[in-house]
Amino acid sequence: MGLRLAHKWAIASRLGPGGGGGTVEFPVVIVELFDEQSGITARGEAAPSSRYNEDVEGCLAFFAKVDAARLHFTDLESSRRYIDRIALGHPAAKGALDMAMLDGYGQMISQPVHKLFGLDFTNGAPLTSFSIGIDNPETIMEKVREASVYPCLKLKVGGPSDEANLSALRSVAPRVRLRLDANEAWGSKEEALTHLERLANDGFVEFIEQPMPASAPRSDWIWLKERSPIPLMADESYQTAADVSFCQECFHAVNVKLVKAGGITPAFEALQAARKSGLKTMLGCMIETSILISAAAHLAELTDFLDLDGNLLITNDPFSGVSCDRGFLAFPRNLPAFGLRVIPRPAT
Ligand SMILES: [Mg+2]
Repeated sequence: MGLRLAHKWAIASRLGPGGGGGTVEFPVVIVELFDEQSGITARGEAAPSSRYNEDVEGCLAFFAKVDAARLHFTDLESSRRYIDRIALGHPAAKGALDMAMLDGYGQMISQPVHKLFGLDFTNGAPLTSFSIGIDNPETIMEKVREASVYPCLKLKVGGPSDEANLSALRSVAPRVRLRLDANEAWGSKEEALTHLERLANDGFVEFIEQPMPASAPRSDWIWLKERSPIPLMADESYQTAADVSFCQECFHAVNVKLVKAGGITPAFEALQAARKSGLKTMLGCMIETSILISAAAHLAELTDFLDLDGNLLITNDPFSGVSCDRGFLAFPRNLPAFGLRVIPRPAT
């Protein structure tokens, strides 16, 4: 299905010449696994990203290779091994199946997914930021006004008017908690440092995600980490736990996403590995429905920051799951697994 955005969405890596561009629709794939014996329908979602060489066609081709008879809600280990062997790569598609398996198992034993990982979730405690895409300063002011209920914002930077956009944001929300995300915008360490020093004049930026491309040499990252006035968070540089030693050297924190890690299980491992290495952690998202957002929220206890707002940016979410009250997340009581409900639509 195509997720409709409330606002045109632009980030540094998708800007056109002159900083224009952006999009109003993102395609995702929702998978359902039906167990005849128990009557349980389990769901997962793939929000494929071209940044990680995935698209809807690739996800559908992967799903076409899956023999559902080899998947068992009661045997997550062997189901996961089977899914992994189907093909290399495909983290978003594999993640959708990992999610659906956990949804099925959670429903079967009537437990929330966080309990399956030995974690707690305190309703109303975890706080997500709300993201503001790249735009012109006037529109930024409008978006920040609309987002006035959120105590924490994330501003996308790496466009032609970052400082003006930051000033515009501060003119509306002088004290809001603020994070920045450059999405690999700056090509050299010197260019990145110049931008970071200017943006640091704000005085209250918590961290910046991915100022340089993930392909930048390790020595450039170490150079930048030593000098940056703002803590550096790896996003595109941290896909799975395998990237942890690089990120420990080059960053202060990491952003884990279900879609790039390959589901809840590898995201759990990526968060644990990062914490063991002394890195701060965040759970982030793509433009997603409440399936992926709710699934990620179950791992909130393993994070220092949350950026789970993908479902808040769309206008046609088919599900409700984790709720967001002025940025604070809560699950509905007494619902197993992800805590999802299908939102009834009027017949057309
Ligand atoms: Mg990011």
